[in-house]
Amino acid sequence: MEEYDVVVVGGGVAGSVAARFAAKSGFKTLLAEKFKTPRNKPCSGIQFPYFEKLIGEKIPREKLCGNELFKVEMITPTDKVLKGGMKMLNFWRSTFDSWLNSLAEDAGADFRDNTSLTDFVEDKSEDKITVKVSVEGEHREVKARYLIGADGMLSRVRRKMRPQDFNRKASGATINYYFVGKANLDPNTLYMFYKREFCPLMFAWVYLKDDKWVIGTGANENPLEYADGFFNYVKEKYELRGEIVKKEGFSSTMKSTVFLGEGQILLVGDAAGLVDLYRGVGMDNAALSGRLAVKAITKAEEEGLEAAKAYENLMKNVVKKIEANAKKQSKRLSSNNELEKSLSPLNMLKGGLRMLIANQINKMLPPEKLIFLPP
Ligand SMILES: Cc1cc2nc3c(=O)[nH]c(=O)nc-3n(C[C@H](O)[C@H](O)[C@H](O)COP(=O)(O)OP(=O)(O)OC[C@H]3O[C@@H](n4cnc5c(N)ncnc54)[C@H](O)[C@@H]3O)c2cc1C
Repeated sequence: MEEYDVVVVGGGVAGSVAARFAAKSGFKTLLAEKFKTPRNKPCSGIQFPYFEKLIGEKIPREKLCGNELFKVEMITPTDKVLKGGMKMLNFWRSTFDSWLNSLAEDAGADFRDNTSLTDFVEDKSEDKITVKVSVEGEHREVKARYLIGADGMLSRVRRKMRPQDFNRKASGATINYYFVGKANLDPNTLYMFYKREFCPLMFAWVYLKDDKWVIGTGANENPLEYADGFFNYVKEKYELRGEIVKKEGFSSTMKSTVFLGEGQILLVGDAAGLVDLYRGVGMDNAALSGRLAVKAITKAEEEGLEAAKAYENLMKNVVKKIEANAKKQSKRLSSNNELEKSLSPLNMLKGGLRMLIANQINKMLPPEKLIFLPP
């Protein structure tokens, strides 16, 4: 049976970054991705420039969308429009993740797509984990000293460790409509609609990806009604003429709690519950957690610590921030009034200044100390 130091399950952002840094640190690493790549992942694919520091590589221009995003427009519940400049990275997850997979491979990790974790068994006497995978329907087993669950919100690794973290039914969905045609919208602007009638979870969004306008929202209940209502509003307001070419949605039964793993099994990214709805992003936390999981394993090896304990320690500030932001988010979404207040000109000015300063400081900070935006 093939043996690895680190087996990473899931070839998204968290898993690819973890596998890349594990291989770079000298660990014999396997990165297993369930789907044939490049695979599609429902995601808006927007991040801030500091994201490149987290993945440890500048994203080649051809891996980004043709149109750049460098402006934002925030629309408040009372239709005030707040405009600002903000450079963002705009990419398709299929292209981007596939490139990340290749970075892990280049660093020395074995990358296998079409390879799905089906189960794992800890062998305490050997201090190893038997990882069971299905490769195009065929059953195989590999041994690992450490297992990193980077298998997203539907995580099998987490489900086996903590079935109580999953509800019976999905509690909602995030939905993107892709529209091709004419629109009275700016191709370089990310439009964010802070209106509870369009999105009761965060904000509803509109922006361009190459030739497709992405019009999306998320809701815990009746997400399709929200998506249709928002689309119809955008269609009329911005005079859309054309057609929806694709609709995609994503839902999960995972409760939104953070769990980082136990012993030699670590969870990273969405599998660990690291999406931040207040900031409206998850990929930066995913990449950082991938790096820190590997740092924890290195510490465990060098200092004889338990990897999960070392990881928990390294992730303390990330988790604190997610929990604090979750509280802020539920307060500001308690009513349109609260939402409007949180977007007051004074708050926006303060927020804008903090963004500017953080952006400058981030240029000098090492990846693990970056100030995530919006701060
Ligand atoms: C509609 C939508 C829009 C979003 N927009 C943004 C955005 O603009 N910016 C942002 O930062 N974040 C955004 N997010 C959040 C972001 O997509 C996630 O936080 C991010 O993808 C987490 O990365 P991950 O690597 O943890 O998980 P994922 O990207 O979900 O990757 C998990 C991987 O594991 C694989 N996998 C699953 N099960 C198995 C298995 N059993 N065996 C092997 N492999 C397996 C999956 O195929 C997948 O490739 C959005 C999310 C949604 C739903």
